[in-house]
Amino acid sequence: MDTQVETPPAPLVDESTPAVQPLTQASTTPAVQSPAQGSATPAVEAPATQELASEPPPPKAVTPAEEEEASTESGKKEEPKLDINHIKEELQNSIIAGNIPQLVLHMITYATGIEVSDIHIEPMEKIVRIRFRIDGVLRLIIEYPSNIHPAIVSRVKIMSGLKIDEQRVPQDGRMQITTEDGKNLDLRVSTLPTVNGEKIVSRIQDKSKTIPDLPNLGIQGENMKKMERFLALPNGVILVTGPTGSGKTNTLYSTLSRLNTVGVNIMTFEDPVEYQMDGLSQSQMKPDIDYDFASGLRTALRQDPDIIMVGEIRDQETIEIAIRAALTGHLVLSTIHTNSAVGTLTRITDMGVKGFLIASAIRGIIAQRLVRRVCKYCKELYTPEPKLVEEIKKELEGVDPNHFDIKKLENIQLARGKGCDKCGDTGKKGRMGIFEIMEMDREVGSLILKNAPDTELMDAAKKGGMITLKQDGYIKAIQGDIPIEEVYRVVQ
Ligand SMILES: [Zn+2]
Repeated sequence: MDTQVETPPAPLVDESTPAVQPLTQASTTPAVQSPAQGSATPAVEAPATQELASEPPPPKAVTPAEEEEASTESGKKEEPKLDINHIKEELQNSIIAGNIPQLVLHMITYATGIEVSDIHIEPMEKIVRIRFRIDGVLRLIIEYPSNIHPAIVSRVKIMSGLKIDEQRVPQDGRMQITTEDGKNLDLRVSTLPTVNGEKIVSRIQDKSKTIPDLPNLGIQGENMKKMERFLALPNGVILVTGPTGSGKTNTLYSTLSRLNTVGVNIMTFEDPVEYQMDGLSQSQMKPDIDYDFASGLRTALRQDPDIIMVGEIRDQETIEIAIRAALTGHLVLSTIHTNSAVGTLTRITDMGVKGFLIASAIRGIIAQRLVRRVCKYCKELYTPEPKLVEEIKKELEGVDPNHFDIKKLENIQLARGKGCDKCGDTGKKGRMGIFEIMEMDREVGSLILKNAPDTELMDAAKKGGMITLKQDGYIKAIQGDIPIEEVYRVVQ
């Protein structure tokens, strides 16, 4: 079912619209409203723009948040405070007042101000909770009584163009919001009927976000040199791998933005198109009408391409066309769902691709994970336990000395955040990637032809200079970029 509806952009603050007090008689009544009443309150009927305009300027917690990358570069702008307690208090006030539109508006305003990627509104048996995903981890923001949930669901559905009277099947919708500072936000709203009522998850995408350059993602030293060699290739397949939410798409966009020059035709086949980049021909897949990655890729070959990006390789057909494209002189970038660089080779073999095709077409594999950074405002250094020091030394033994200065192992210090008002007392703020970048060389290629096991491929890749995910994580922990426990969280 395709119920996706685009609602007109709703500016968060629209100066031209007169302020309207949403606190009407109806909405000050105790927070007990049936779904029917909920959707019939005056505030719900008012267009979103008016209510949005009625809001006072957002409190400190939601001043425009700079991109982590941008802020580390300039370091000029004051970081917003992540004052979870203040947000909780404001939302609590709206709940007590029974002001559903205000509650929903505050929820969205706060979420967009502190770089929340997803808002979860989930009914449980007796209460409903709102959680925000911040830097990849969910945080409980507030709980409210179940009896106001139908009104909140109706409110969100109206704002995202969904049917309020349809509660039995999942629905997908969108909201577009422009913030005061000109950020264009796209909220993808998904509803799901659960045994306790409808659950709503909203993914927030900042369309005006600038694409960070590769080093800002965490690609450093020898890894960056490998990336530069990949970027200079006239043809071949480059794959980015990792679990969902490991930052694969960002890496592809950052790579494309380096390749994006007037001299080349870059075509992308995506589902969904997450950022729009000038100079690229970006195509949105529509699997329901059989326009999928494989058919997109076939079309690309008739469009005189130089560089082709395919959202994901999931099946034999797609990988085979990608390899054919590479062997006929094109550079193909894509993602694949595996755990490691070496595991990707095994996965492609399992898809039924012949070893000689893999060895000749695949030029590089980038495995990655996203980890949280140490909050720079409350960072402190400490000396780890001797046992951990030994473990780190053992893991980093034999790492390419061009990538990492072995002398740093003599006096290992790690970093952690004490917790402050900039990081919501978590000690962590922002995220970066840890990477394992494998370059196809003669040694690895000949092992693929022999159908060698993973362990042998891994040894050969390491001998060829590959830094493993764990090693890159340890190096970043020693440099004081990330807390060491983040490495254990994402790498087994
Ligand atoms: Zn902090």
